[in-house]
Amino acid sequence: MPQFKPLWQVRCHHEMAPLGSPPRTLPHESYPRMPKLEIEQFPCLSDNYAVLIHDAESGLTASIDAPDAKAILERLDAKGWRLTHVLNTHHHGDHTGGNQRLKEATGCTIIGPLAEADRIPGIDVAVSEGDEIPFGAFKIKVIETPGHTVGHVAYWIHEARVAFVGDTLFAMGAGRIFEGNAEMMWKSLKKLMALPRDTEIYCGHEYTAANARFALTVDPENAALQNRAKEVDQLRDKNKPTLPTRLDRELETNPFLRPHVTAIRAILGMPYAPDWKVFAAIRERKNKS
Ligand code: ZN
Ligand code: FE
Repeated sequence: MPQFKPLWQVRCHHEMAPLGSPPRTLPHESYPRMPKLEIEQFPCLSDNYAVLIHDAESGLTASIDAPDAKAILERLDAKGWRLTHVLNTHHHGDHTGGNQRLKEATGCTIIGPLAEADRIPGIDVAVSEGDEIPFGAFKIKVIETPGHTVGHVAYWIHEARVAFVGDTLFAMGAGRIFEGNAEMMWKSLKKLMALPRDTEIYCGHEYTAANARFALTVDPENAALQNRAKEVDQLRDKNKPTLPTRLDRELETNPFLRPHVTAIRAILGMPYAPDWKVFAAIRERKNKS
């Protein structure tokens, strides 16, 4: 069965020429245009990340969460971008604390999860599963990922191969379950696991080094994990971010996404339990670590 790529993925008409035919030269205008999303990630507060996304053509700029208004306004200024949206993943103060000030300073529209609308300061638009937020050439899809909080959402932009997952999924880790339960959180993670494997994952916090240390205790023979843990130490020694990560890397190294793996089950003494129970046991162990 031939596999057709969506138009934006087709970089060059030569790829589509049938085998054996001479490469065609086309005037530049006739190449399909790929919309480009600019992404600016920077650390703020003690271990949060602020992320700005910018579509140059439409001039739209969104902040994924609002951990620190001052730091975000300074970065907007440095980039010459005007904030048009805040996209909140959940109600926690380290994700919404800057909402009001950003709104006052820029008049931006604040978008957040419907199930937590009463706890999101300044919210203008409440979204839920499957909603699509138009953003210039892009569509931002809402994925409900309850568990860390009951209304937590992730934002996914298929065309740009990126997802902003807040405190649901971390590099080699997963969010603490404050309001939901383990079965709910596992379902949420499974939704993220079903995204295209080359999706870049932006997370709410730099927890990677501690996560790697814990991951090695439940999946010690995993060579990909061992290598990655070394890489992470090198990056953190230079105070560099370990994020964004990519879904394929997480599927290989993140024990929270690997409850089906025999070696992990053996260490936990749970050879036959359903995946979500193994996931719950890994979460419990991490809480105590
Ligand atoms: Zn949180
Ligand atoms: Fe957080």
